[in-house]
This record gives sequence, C-alpha cells and structure tokens, in this order.
Amino acid sequence: MARNTVQFQKGLSEAAFEDCYGTEEKCRAAVMASRWPNGFECPACGGRAHSEVKTRGLFQCSACRHQTSLIAGTIFASTHLPLRLWFRAMYHLTQSKQGISSVELGRRLGVKQFTAWKMKHKLGQVMMERDACKRLTGRVEMDDAYVGGERTGGKRGRGAPGKTPFVAAVETTADGKPVRLKLRRVISFCNHAISGFARTSLDPKCEVVSDGLACFGAVTDAGCKHQAIKTGSGSAAARTPAFKWVNTALGNIKAAIVGTYRAIHEKHVPRYLAEFEYRFNRRYDLAAMLPRLTWAAVRTPPMPFRLLKLADVYA
Ligand SMILES: [Zn+2]
Repeated sequence: MARNTVQFQKGLSEAAFEDCYGTEEKCRAAVMASRWPNGFECPACGGRAHSEVKTRGLFQCSACRHQTSLIAGTIFASTHLPLRLWFRAMYHLTQSKQGISSVELGRRLGVKQFTAWKMKHKLGQVMMERDACKRLTGRVEMDDAYVGGERTGGKRGRGAPGKTPFVAAVETTADGKPVRLKLRRVISFCNHAISGFARTSLDPKCEVVSDGLACFGAVTDAGCKHQAIKTGSGSAAARTPAFKWVNTALGNIKAAIVGTYRAIHEKHVPRYLAEFEYRFNRRYDLAAMLPRLTWAAVRTPPMPFRLLKLADVYA
C-alpha cells in the first residue's frame, strides 16, 4: 500500500488519552455523556428526574423509584474492574493497526491474561453487533479465505482440515478505492452460505466481482449482479487488479494473525474478524474511534461469561 493519509494520521496520542480518560472520574463522565447525552434517563420509565445514591454509585428515578447504575444494562455491567482499565483496553484495541493479543493487553493493563481475554471478547462483541446490520453497496470485491488450522505441514488452501472459512468483501468506489470491509464466517463455501451472506450483508444493487469459485454466483439470489473473473491460482491471482483491495485486506489480516495471535479457536473467529472489520471501516479517523466505541459499548447489552464461551450464539 502506498504512503497515504491512513497510515500517517496521528491517532490518539497517549498524552491525549491521559487527558481525556486518565482518571476514574473522567471515564465515568465519558460513559455518562455517551449513555445519557441529555442527562439521566430512567431505563424503566424514561423519566429524567432522579436522585443519586452517592455511596453506592446508583441513580434513583423520582417517578418510578427504579434504581440503576451507570453501567447496568451495558457491556460493562457487573464488571469488577475500574472503567479506567476498560478505556485503556479500548484504547489499545482501536489504536493498534494489527490488534493486540490478550497476553499483551493483560501486561499493559496489569491484569491477568484471562481477565484481558474476557475484556477483549466483550469489546469484540460490541464491534460485531455495531457493524452487523450495515450492508455494503456499489462495487464489491469478494473472496474466500480461512483462518486457523495447520500452520505447517498440513494440507493448504481450500478445504484444509481445521480451518475456519470466512468471506471477505470490500466495497470500493467505482474507480476502485476501498470504502468498507465485511468479514463473515461461513459454514463452508457453498451456494447456501454465500446466498445467506449476500442477503444480510450486501445491498441488492451491489455489483460483485469474484474469482471463478462457483458458489459466489449465489449473490444473485440477493439481487446483486455478479462478474466472475478467472484468475489462475497463487501469485497470479493476487496480482489481479480487480481484487486489489480484498487481497490487501486479507494480507493484513493474515499478517496480524501470525504476528499477534498464536491461535484462534474456531468459535471465537467471528469476534476476531469483527475487530479487523471495525478498525478497517473507521481507519480514516483513529482518534474518533474511542468515543465511537464507547457510544456503542453503552448500547450493547451485557454479555455473561457463559454466553461469551458459547460457540455459535453470535455467529
Ligand atoms: Zn423511572
């Protein structure tokens, strides 16, 4: 990728982060402003008049007497960690291009790896739910890809055992500049899966280009136009200009997985993909990513650990 405005933007410096989110009080204020931009609003009745039970950090609605905390009903619900650490986690997750492993996150936050892992997955959930219903439109480059499985020795390429298949799709402008990315785990590369992907992720007006893999023709089920371009295989395929951006995105994802994450369990693949997708789709404004993620986090319902562990609940 050429030197461009994405790579050389400033992002949110550590000093600026400290200024905005350096204390528990500042983080509480940031959550408050995100969750209730016009002041407290009772989650039960919508009333605004309230009192504060300062000793317990609770708000009590004057109309219905319902008591709530600042973080009840949000992804941060029932956390034992200070919000200051959650903001630090969001900072590292959004400002590093390649993402951050739970080992590294734990080290930076000074918490156990397992704690960091849970934080990361909850925030990954926020990212996933936020982008789930946004469809790509216009020209779309599409490709098949895999994560995980045998790193060395095993069978390579399509259909290798232990690999999790996913669809990568990049919306571009008419002259081929990348706009948005979608990464979705699929059961396999069959017509049924691609048809399902297209119905939920693509606008019917999309013009999809893909290689010759037969299942991609199923995007027409969702009303999209489809053009298959025969590419040959290997490096010849990677150089095909029609797939420049989907290949670039997949190259970045593979580099990040190798460099950052040692192994990704199949059931967590959707949240990892959501992280990449979220960062890519907001790459023009790194500094705004943190307030935007805060906004989404306070609107994402709590996620108990038993759900976090489950395989396919949010797939
Ligand atoms: Zn109320």
